[in-house]
Amino acid sequence: MFKQLTEAPQDPILSLSIAYRDDPRTEKMDLGIGVYKNSDGVTPIMKAVHLAEQQILDSSTTKSYVGLAGNEAFNQSMMDLLLIGTSAHSRAAAVQTPGASGALRMLADLIYLAQPETTVWISDPSYVNHKPVMEAAGLKVKYYPYFDRVTKQVNSEAMLHALEEAGPKDVVLLHGCCHNPTGADISFSDWQAITELANKNGFMPFVDIAYQGFGDGLEQDAAGLQHMADNVEEMVIATSCSKNFGLYRERTGAAIVVGDSLRQAQKARGRILTLARSTYTMPPDHGAALVATILADDALTQSWKKELNEMNQRLLTLRSGLVKAVRAQGSDGFDFIEHHKGMFSVTGLSPKQVARLRDECGIYAVGDGRINIAALQEQQMDYLAKALIAVSN
Ligand code: PMP
Repeated sequence: MFKQLTEAPQDPILSLSIAYRDDPRTEKMDLGIGVYKNSDGVTPIMKAVHLAEQQILDSSTTKSYVGLAGNEAFNQSMMDLLLIGTSAHSRAAAVQTPGASGALRMLADLIYLAQPETTVWISDPSYVNHKPVMEAAGLKVKYYPYFDRVTKQVNSEAMLHALEEAGPKDVVLLHGCCHNPTGADISFSDWQAITELANKNGFMPFVDIAYQGFGDGLEQDAAGLQHMADNVEEMVIATSCSKNFGLYRERTGAAIVVGDSLRQAQKARGRILTLARSTYTMPPDHGAALVATILADDALTQSWKKELNEMNQRLLTLRSGLVKAVRAQGSDGFDFIEHHKGMFSVTGLSPKQVARLRDECGIYAVGDGRINIAALQEQQMDYLAKALIAVSN
């Protein structure tokens, strides 16, 4: 049977990591893979996570099954983090999923179940998995204009104009904050305008928020999503603890459904549970248990918030440091990096220029010109600045 298979295409970001690993140059930099690194180049286990891990180790008595929806205290915490204070909080239901990736797929499957002819509009460009996940669920995908390659910011006018066309058979997928890959976020007034359009034309918003706390702060990063949730009848949200709790490999996320009533949201949740049963059945426990333990304990919550804020501050310092280093070389061509949010920035470098960065300077970036700011080391700033200018000329 397997002889009939053709080889799977290589994952471009993982192949980049392998090429980086095998590169003997000491000045090499891996700005490809999307994980946060501290000033020692390490993706740390957060202090609150360590402490919660110890608590769980000391108090656990069983590894018996938890249930299809996973950890209910975790589910409640995810809804609190995103929706507290909105009218949507009392008409929402959540299911723990294996990462936001699991949530994206479960929600896509749910949409297909409710309305198989749905088209999902995604930003151009968007997170590399959005299109394949939506299509694997049987949904059609269409792009809306998003990133202005000249200003390196969102082209709101073009985006809103295109979304005018979306109607009741459409879902519009938005990044809650810290857009991946570009780093360019929509403004609060864009959130308001898209909310109005959703109500006027009948499409359902789908928000993927994988970096809450990495932009302007935990609460601020949810402000646009909250405005929307307060004002639309229905929406769905995929959320992740991979970045803001540093739980990448623990596969910790949630799918949240906001309905026009709690009953509708719970009905949708019930369908997600059936969908989960026919795939992975239950999400892994450990990551969600850690998050639930942290958020149920004031001291651990404060520790987590403090460390998350420090990570966020480090990102801001790296962004301004890089812009300063480029400016010191006499160029203002990368000033936009300071206006971007989160871990990533699309630099505007062409695939050829990205190849030159790698071949001539040992700097590994994704082919679309995305660099991971969070993987930068302070002492490498001048080297990167010179390299960016050299390959741009
Ligand atoms: N959505 C976006 C926009 C992402 O960047 C990522 C992770 N890179 C995910 C979803 C998936 O996150 P998780 O690791 O929680 O599955």
